[in-house]
Amino acid sequence: MLDPIESLKTKMVLACKVLQQQRIVDVYGHLSARLPDGRLISTPHMPPGKVALRDLIIIDSDGKKLEGFGEPNGDTAMHTSIYKARPDVQCILHYHPDELVAVSISGQGIKVVANCGVHFYRGTPIYDSPVLIRTEELGDKVAATLGDRNAVLLRGHGGTVVANDLDTLLRLGLDLVRTARIQIMASTLGPLKTHSQAECEQMVKFHDRPNTNRRFVDYYISEVVD
Ligand SMILES: [Zn+2]
Repeated sequence: MLDPIESLKTKMVLACKVLQQQRIVDVYGHLSARLPDGRLISTPHMPPGKVALRDLIIIDSDGKKLEGFGEPNGDTAMHTSIYKARPDVQCILHYHPDELVAVSISGQGIKVVANCGVHFYRGTPIYDSPVLIRTEELGDKVAATLGDRNAVLLRGHGGTVVANDLDTLLRLGLDLVRTARIQIMASTLGPLKTHSQAECEQMVKFHDRPNTNRRFVDYYISEVVD
């Protein structure tokens, strides 16, 4: 049986492969996960979709590298600040899909216009700066903007999604981009009709069921494994 750290690393590499195959990440972007002892596993400063098991690094809660060959990402402070502010968050994805950048600069934010967007019905705040998150001070500002939500857009830059397990993170990461894409497509056709609060609340009731993400995640993973 794989030890828990190796198992987590394997899941992280698979998640990165899915994100790469779906063209959700490119040269940039990063994925991290929190270990029970507070240390973090992170993709290093390299294209996340090209990361292999041996490339993953372990950093402390302040972002200092403890194990591994690669270097931490430049935006590591965003991860460490969010983990400190949100004890419930166990993994974080940061990426730059065109759809999220476009919505972040529209002044509208994410609207729940499709069922893949209901995870975000409580709102997706926008961090109002394109400057990269290179310091703890900026990391804390992103964490404060995220608040208790599961995603934050960074104006003209990208998005950051958080979850308490990797399956949920992968689902949120893919669904946020998809709902943004549908929002952009529908915007060209005329005014948008959004899901009501009651409709969203009714739908997310089922999201906490065990294995609710299994079918979704299995589909995408089956696309990247032989
Ligand atoms: Zn970025």
